[in-house]
Amino acid sequence: MLDKTLLKIIPLPALKDNYIWLLKNKASRHVAIVDPSEAKPVLDRIKTERLIPTAIMITHHHWDHVGGIAAIIEQFNIPVYTPKSETIAGSTHPVGAGDVVSLPELGLQLNILDVPGHTAGAVAYYNDDLVFSGDTLFTAGCGRLFEGTPAQMHNSLSKFKALPDNTRLYCGHEYTVSNLKFAAHLEPGNKAIQQRLQRATATRDKHLPTVPATMSEEQATNPFLRCEEVTVIAAARAYATTSATAPADVFATIRRWKDNF
Ligand code: ZN
Ligand code: FE
Repeated sequence: MLDKTLLKIIPLPALKDNYIWLLKNKASRHVAIVDPSEAKPVLDRIKTERLIPTAIMITHHHWDHVGGIAAIIEQFNIPVYTPKSETIAGSTHPVGAGDVVSLPELGLQLNILDVPGHTAGAVAYYNDDLVFSGDTLFTAGCGRLFEGTPAQMHNSLSKFKALPDNTRLYCGHEYTVSNLKFAAHLEPGNKAIQQRLQRATATRDKHLPTVPATMSEEQATNPFLRCEEVTVIAAARAYATTSATAPADVFATIRRWKDNF
């Protein structure tokens, strides 16, 4: 097993607000790539740091997560892990729940969560320390429902909720500040949201990433993981003028609310 201190997770900002994640073995310079929206920032970094690519992992089929695959595998013959129920050019290893991605050069074994909702076949990659969630769970928010139902997404989010508190969440976009503005609107009395919004704003003022976050921060401040909290239920009921209190119904309401926020 690789000494954990040798593993570095590097964000590569790409396109408008995407993150491509690099998992790097600092000693051997092996690197795995998560959701390469474009190839250039990845290939540039490989060149300047003389990195050795070992794998690509894809969370879902959207163009802003797969756009760089072709140009990377043209230069490097490496496995491309993709969700098994989505069609993605360049895929070599379709994966789903129960499969394991072995990255021996990084001392890592990643498990798979099936997390439909944003897309029908989206997956997340995780171990005891970290999770790559793509556009399903965002820091302080969640993805839009392009291909799934609210009930599916709510069920997918419950899988993230079950991860240990100290799991670090690495998502596909820098959306924290705008997500927290909605969270603060929905739960005006939640001090943890206010404090996190202040911190995230200061971080973005310095042009630094607000990602990753811990799952304990998410539990305290992400409204989409808080559909069982009385404050969130009350806010959803007031917004929707219904009496629905089932968590999946509360989720459906606040997801719709965020779409129109
Ligand atoms: Zn995206
Ligand atoms: Fe997406």
